[in-house]
Amino acid sequence: MSFPKYANIIIDISHEKVDRLFQYRIPERLLGQVEIGCSVDVPFGKGNTRRKGYVIELTDESNYDEDRIKEIISLSEGIDTAEDISIKLAAWMKRYYGSTMIAALKTAVPTYKQQKRQVHKFVSLRLDERQARDAYNESIRKKQRARERILKELLDNQEDRIPYELITGKLGVSAATLKSMADAGIIRIDEEEYFRNPIAATTDRYTDKVLSPEQQHIVDTVSRDYDQGKRDTYLIHGITGSGKTEVYIALIDDMIKRGKQAIVLIPEIALTYQTLMRFYRHFGDRVSVMNSSLSPGEKYDQMERARSGDIDIIIGPRSALFTPFPNTGIIIIDEEHESTYKSENSPKYHARETAIELSKLLPDGAAVVLGSATPSLESYYRAKSGEYHLFELNRRLTGGTLPTVEMADLREELRSGNRSIFSRRLQELMDEKLSKGEQAMLFINRRGLAGFISCRSCGHVFKCPHCDVSLSEHRGGRLVCHYCGHQEIRPKVCPECGSKYVSSFRAGTEQIEDEVKKFWPQARVLRMDADTTRTKGSYDMILSAFSNKEADVLVGTQMIVKGHDFPDVTLVGILAADMSLYASDFRASERTFQLLTQAAGRAGRGEKEGNVVIQSYQPEHYAIVTAARQDYKSFYEEEIAYRDLLRYPPISHMMCVQIQSKNEEEGMEYAGRFRAIMEQQRVQGAVFIGPALAPIAKINDIYRMAIYVKFDDYDKLVLLKDTLEHYVKELEDMGKLRTITLQFDFDPMHG
Ligand code: ADP
Ligand code: ZN
Ligand code: ZN
Repeated sequence: MSFPKYANIIIDISHEKVDRLFQYRIPERLLGQVEIGCSVDVPFGKGNTRRKGYVIELTDESNYDEDRIKEIISLSEGIDTAEDISIKLAAWMKRYYGSTMIAALKTAVPTYKQQKRQVHKFVSLRLDERQARDAYNESIRKKQRARERILKELLDNQEDRIPYELITGKLGVSAATLKSMADAGIIRIDEEEYFRNPIAATTDRYTDKVLSPEQQHIVDTVSRDYDQGKRDTYLIHGITGSGKTEVYIALIDDMIKRGKQAIVLIPEIALTYQTLMRFYRHFGDRVSVMNSSLSPGEKYDQMERARSGDIDIIIGPRSALFTPFPNTGIIIIDEEHESTYKSENSPKYHARETAIELSKLLPDGAAVVLGSATPSLESYYRAKSGEYHLFELNRRLTGGTLPTVEMADLREELRSGNRSIFSRRLQELMDEKLSKGEQAMLFINRRGLAGFISCRSCGHVFKCPHCDVSLSEHRGGRLVCHYCGHQEIRPKVCPECGSKYVSSFRAGTEQIEDEVKKFWPQARVLRMDADTTRTKGSYDMILSAFSNKEADVLVGTQMIVKGHDFPDVTLVGILAADMSLYASDFRASERTFQLLTQAAGRAGRGEKEGNVVIQSYQPEHYAIVTAARQDYKSFYEEEIAYRDLLRYPPISHMMCVQIQSKNEEEGMEYAGRFRAIMEQQRVQGAVFIGPALAPIAKINDIYRMAIYVKFDDYDKLVLLKDTLEHYVKELEDMGKLRTITLQFDFDPMHG
């Protein structure tokens, strides 16, 4: 066996340009020991001072004269620093997901670019309580909604200062409004260079919340394991309102007592004002929030504060995982089933797996806690197999009754002459709720809308005979499978029932909004979708407007089913529940179940009785039946059987090789060769599918195609990936393959 002889090394990771590499020879005695991601000591510069560097690439050929190239002195010794760990994690991501080391470093190593220090602002009440109440009542009278929102928050929490960003970002109050209120002497805006104590953290307010025995059991188990040196991954399966967040807070408390830090991942869309305030109230200035709207300067600031021990807790989406705490003790991933935990850019990492790997790299290890009302098949499968520790929380601690769920069969509606997008039952309930002044949410599931077709009389869905996923309609009347490329002619009539209502369901949010206005002209309607949430803050603005009862009906895509609690929503209508079942990928049923369960859970949060109507063309489909019953376990059993039958994850693993090319023919030709190269590796039992065109076959004139490989052993798939990367590198070195790019996606989540 021969080992690479040269290493390309980065000396100063804090330098902006991570792609500035220096080449060193690996001495005989270190051959085979120097790996990508290692830290090594090298002579550097004119004086050959000893510096620490990180190995980014290994190679057999040198770009320099043999006698000019310097030699690595040794592997670095001592305990890994936060920086060492970030770089090792990047090396793991590169290998495990397939990407360049530079791309992995840019993802996993926090930015070091020094920015001007930010000042932190927060808002508090300047008036006394009586005056403030007067101002509040006046804002209601004058319909000054933004003023009303902020005054309500400040009155509810008079001893608190509220972080400025939360008010502008999450409460949807503009900077101009805040300024005019400050000028009028109603509020005070304070500035500090450090983010000190935004909240008077009166912990005694919380010590009186006694955890339920089920909650306490989780906290005790995780903390005891930790103290006994056992590092595990835990899955909390608990319906919304069952007290998961309260458990997270108690767990973090325990870790902080042990001198550790905590990383809390929450999908961006669920990072609501209420949730963030719960953490701020409890942990005061020890907590910080990261989100995508932060400027590079603000992000740098957060990272610095984490590095220097200024904070103990970071809350944020996927990328918050890479916060360089000196001593992370726990990583919590809430709503762990969310597909946003998987990166869509290379390296296409999953935050869950990466968190588990990070916990292994940390000198003391960390507990990993996953939480969800509808766990991913992956996590539940692992929990059942004993790989993760499973906890269940089955009681709703908020009170509030579970909603009554009814089904409406859209085939039946069509038969009885109702061609509108609202079933008769949904119309009845809308009339009833609106006349009582209660609120309704109408949810359209737009995922998988691209080109699916079905029979609107019997609900028959056109599926690939080989892959059991829906076919998509393409130009020229063809139906195509995006896994294997299978094609058939689009039939004129339904093969099941002979009906000629074979078509795609094209209702969008705008059309629904119009229909609502036609049916209920007196209702005030808000719409939330990709179009209405394009500008910064608009998402939070719409939600807080709805929560302040500035509208009666909220129409929207899956965006509306997450996050906020709306106690006055007593009706949820799901207009075409099966839409996401038609998505042409193997996770279609899982996604449908999650969306429906979440959507149904929106109704009846308050005192009043809630109703849910699920409209569907396939009310007998197991994802819909089990979601209506809020029965996760039955769903899981059906779904895992399907995955098992077709060897889809989590039963097996699936690697997607994505090829992009300016030229369709050339791309397909190379794709064919790539498949052949992988097949030559003779991995017994590996299943190769494709190449076929991707669901969106062309973007910006670049053709996209994919090959899928299914196999039980993930490491073997990684070897196939390595083989392919090697082959592509050789071609590139020969000056070929200029017009083709290659990416890998393991156990894909995004169709
Ligand atoms: P989840 O995160 O599972 O949705 P939360 O932690 O937000 O659940 O809890 C739901 C509600 O129940 C919150 O209002 C919370 O304050 C309350 N709650 C949670 N645990 C307790 C408890 N042990 N005693 C009283 N109320 C609780
Ligand atoms: Zn039919
Ligand atoms: Zn197929």
